[in-house]
Amino acid sequence: LTGTIIVGAQWGDEGKGKIVDFLAGDYDIVVRFNGGNNTGHTVVYNGKKYRQHLIPSGILYKGKRLLIGSGEVINPEALFQEISILEKEGIKLNLMIDGKAHVVFPFHILQDCLSDVAQGKFSAGSTRTGIAPVYSDKAARNGIRIIDLTDEEIFNEKFNNLLKLKQLTLKFVYGDNTVIDGEALRQKYLEFGKRLLPMIGDVSLEVNKALDEGKRVLFEGAQGTMLCLDHGLYPYGTSSNTIAGGACTGVGVGPTKISEVIGVTKAYTSRVGSGPLPTELKDELGNMIREKGQEYGTTTGRPRRVGWLDLVTLKYASRVNGLTSFAVTKLDILGGLRKLKVCIGYKVGNETIKEHPSDLRVFSKCEPIYKEVDGWKDLTEDEWRQIAKEGYQSLPMELKNYLKLIEDEVGVPVKIISFGPSREFTILK
Ligand code: GDP
Repeated sequence: LTGTIIVGAQWGDEGKGKIVDFLAGDYDIVVRFNGGNNTGHTVVYNGKKYRQHLIPSGILYKGKRLLIGSGEVINPEALFQEISILEKEGIKLNLMIDGKAHVVFPFHILQDCLSDVAQGKFSAGSTRTGIAPVYSDKAARNGIRIIDLTDEEIFNEKFNNLLKLKQLTLKFVYGDNTVIDGEALRQKYLEFGKRLLPMIGDVSLEVNKALDEGKRVLFEGAQGTMLCLDHGLYPYGTSSNTIAGGACTGVGVGPTKISEVIGVTKAYTSRVGSGPLPTELKDELGNMIREKGQEYGTTTGRPRRVGWLDLVTLKYASRVNGLTSFAVTKLDILGGLRKLKVCIGYKVGNETIKEHPSDLRVFSKCEPIYKEVDGWKDLTEDEWRQIAKEGYQSLPMELKNYLKLIEDEVGVPVKIISFGPSREFTILK
């Protein structure tokens, strides 16, 4: 079995892109299975930052097979922009997109903005890239898929229906008077279809064949466990399945083909958008971690909320993903703090709970129970580089204890240890 899934174990932005980049050299294929250009994965190489929104993070390996599964939703304009930025950097992509992936139109983006406002206190703080309306249309079977863009007759029929529906929705649901120029849009998307045609294929077939031949496939998830449509903090999450099961549905492989599920977690907690966050630090320390960790959204630039590491969340992530190991990132950011707090349970009224409560009302009342541990000293880039060369044994003792606490409380081993944005600042344990 040679399929490995990478998922975010927290609220997204855990550094999945970096971990995928670190591992991708050992894999034949990297495939994305959910989300759209509402997500941003950063890969740093030779001091240069590459930001992908739709394309898997294996871009820095020449000729690497990169696939976009049917579970992703595609804004063609954003995709071509991403491709063109990479091409300018001299990166030639070996990319295929599943024809079953659904398409984002500008009216989805408009609907997303209007709906985000209308949702009031239940708004998740959308990135306003149209993702929720597209997944809704997909589920309601009104959606248009990438493959539909390549057949004018089919496209026209579907597009006319969708356009009518959207025009009515904008006007009568949201009271918005925008008149969509359907004809211009129709032409534009047929043009996109022509450009996309050489990239369209059957991702499920290719991945299954590869796995059957013993090739190695890395499944890259977007966002994180707590944002999952089904198992996250609904409605404060995203509109796709971010957990490991989403890799199976979003690509078209059976769970029996998967051997490993790696949960990526920061050494602390961060999230962008609204909803309860028990370990949130609203003080100076929180600001300090935000600045040092550069906790600002890749897609929106919004400041992320930060807090102490929450092991109840990680335990939940282990449960719903079936994690086989953790990758812990951003350990460098906590360097220099004398004491660190780690949440090992919650207090709700007089009750102590150790499992993430499925009831949002309970979760919003959860007070963290902390264990205080010793921090490690702040190390320079050169010192971290040296540690990476020497391996696990050379990590500061306090840091090793911190990782051990995660392993003991959650019951999942830490396999990858990350202390810098680029590939070299990583230890495989
Ligand atoms: P993703 O969506 O999970 O891939 O995460 P993002 O790319 O949105 O955010 C993670 C950020 O942290 C990126 O800017 C990475 O370059 C950076 N990063 C990843 N791992 C580390 C690490 O161990 N240390 C530091 N300092 N930065 C890291």
